[in-house]
Amino acid sequence: MRRLCVLVLSIIMSTRVVAAERSEFDRYFAPQSLRIDLYHTGDARTDIYSLDEVMVEPFWAGNPHNLIDTLNLGSCIVRVFDLETNAMIYSRGYCSLFDEWKTTDEAIAGFARTFHESLIIPLPRGKVQVRIDTRDRSNVFKPAFDLVVDPADYHVVTERRSRGVRSVELIDGGPSASKVDIAILGDGYDANELHKLRNDAERLLGVLFNTEPFKSRKRDFNVRLLEPVSADSGVDEPREGKYRSNVLGLSFNAFDIPRYMLTYSNKAVRDIAGNVPYDIVIILANAKRYGGGGIYNLYSDASVDNEFSGYVFVHEFGHAFAGLGDEYYSSEVAYNDIYPKGMEPWEPNITALLDTAKVKWGDLIGSGTPIPTPDDSIHAGVVGCFEGAGYAAKGLFRPSRDCIMFSKRVVPFCPVCARAIDRMVDFYTK
Ligand SMILES: [Zn+2]
Repeated sequence: MRRLCVLVLSIIMSTRVVAAERSEFDRYFAPQSLRIDLYHTGDARTDIYSLDEVMVEPFWAGNPHNLIDTLNLGSCIVRVFDLETNAMIYSRGYCSLFDEWKTTDEAIAGFARTFHESLIIPLPRGKVQVRIDTRDRSNVFKPAFDLVVDPADYHVVTERRSRGVRSVELIDGGPSASKVDIAILGDGYDANELHKLRNDAERLLGVLFNTEPFKSRKRDFNVRLLEPVSADSGVDEPREGKYRSNVLGLSFNAFDIPRYMLTYSNKAVRDIAGNVPYDIVIILANAKRYGGGGIYNLYSDASVDNEFSGYVFVHEFGHAFAGLGDEYYSSEVAYNDIYPKGMEPWEPNITALLDTAKVKWGDLIGSGTPIPTPDDSIHAGVVGCFEGAGYAAKGLFRPSRDCIMFSKRVVPFCPVCARAIDRMVDFYTK
């Protein structure tokens, strides 16, 4: 009987805790999104944000219990403050195309470009201050831009754009508030290829959810496919002089790397994605050539008809979803000094430190494992610090000899990457 009382009491208490947390969301936010569109202009040394427009979108897919981002991932973080109390009521880390571009030769030479960015936050009930902080050279977040937003201002746009785009539920795991919500968008599919888009999406999702830890966590996901129609079939191939009218603007040769594929048409992506509840965007490129890209908390993309498409789809999603860094160091990249000497990368799977007590995955390293860990078959299944990661053969270390963030084939995520993915799934679902 006493045990029953305790049980009943603990159920009442846990219900109360949930109710209290829920009301924290309800106190400050309505279950829709506020999208703040910005232009971000500059070169490697200076940059400026300017406001494009503010709009209300119909859904908020985030976890109402995790309004403050405790993951410390990304090169930027958006923070929202209640103007009455000055309390921070929301934050979320992310990366931007501008951050990557500013490390290219062009930006270092002082040539300025403009990128379009969106901040997406739950819809505040009152006036808020929205602030972007970016990391300095020692990885400390410093304020870079701020804006006071009044959601009741009649300049806040409330129309729904790209309403005619068809959406299909591919995986229905349950309510968005406690699931990871993926929006898959097709690009370069013309009106006769929407059946192919459905098949491509299902085939590549099959690879993702056959890979751990996604396999074990499949029930924590919702996946919705959006089917915008492109006038032309295929995506842009600048080096071949081929430009297609593809609705989301995906192009190979991003930052002039042949296999790197990105879109700069952020507005088109956001307008279409906003038709469904989403936490993260995947774009499928109706293309044969090997390529893709993935930016943390922005989107990942992959060409669908290459022999490596399954690998690229999962690898790039690792970047976009869990903030994983590239563990390889032998491929051509566009960046200069993306991990400056003496700075510990924020990515959960790359370290510059060789002290087990300081390495972020130190708790997974066995006491007998030599550091640095020899790159030999004896240490093939071991977590350690293997030299060569983050585009550098020397000075940066990866957790395992092999991982899908290292090899160009479908191999498992190493234990450190798998843990980072699990933590992100938890962030959206617990
Ligand atoms: Zn890994």
